[in-house]
Amino acid sequence: MPDEPILREKAREAIQSGKLPARRSDRMFGGPGSGQRCAVCGKPLPREEVEIELEFNQRHGLDQYHLHHRCYAAWEFERTKGGAAHS
Ligand SMILES: [Zn+2]
Repeated sequence: MPDEPILREKAREAIQSGKLPARRSDRMFGGPGSGQRCAVCGKPLPREEVEIELEFNQRHGLDQYHLHHRCYAAWEFERTKGGAAHS
C-alpha cells in the first residue's frame, strides 16, 4: 500500500480533476471489497479488504464511488482541509 502522503496527493488530484466530489457524501457504507477500482488510487478492492462506498445525490440520479478505507481517510482529509493555509 502506498504511503499516506501519496494517497492524500491522489485524493487531492481526484478532487481537482472532478473525479471525486469535494462535498460530504449523502450516504456512506462499509463492507467487503466489491472488486471495483478505488476512486482515489485506481487499484482494485479485493474482497478481503474493507471498502467504503460513497453515494452522492445528483441531478441526474446517484453517483457511487468505491474507496479503500485509507483512501477514504485521505479524501476526507483533503476535502475538509479546505482553504486552510498550510506551508
Ligand atoms: Zn484506494
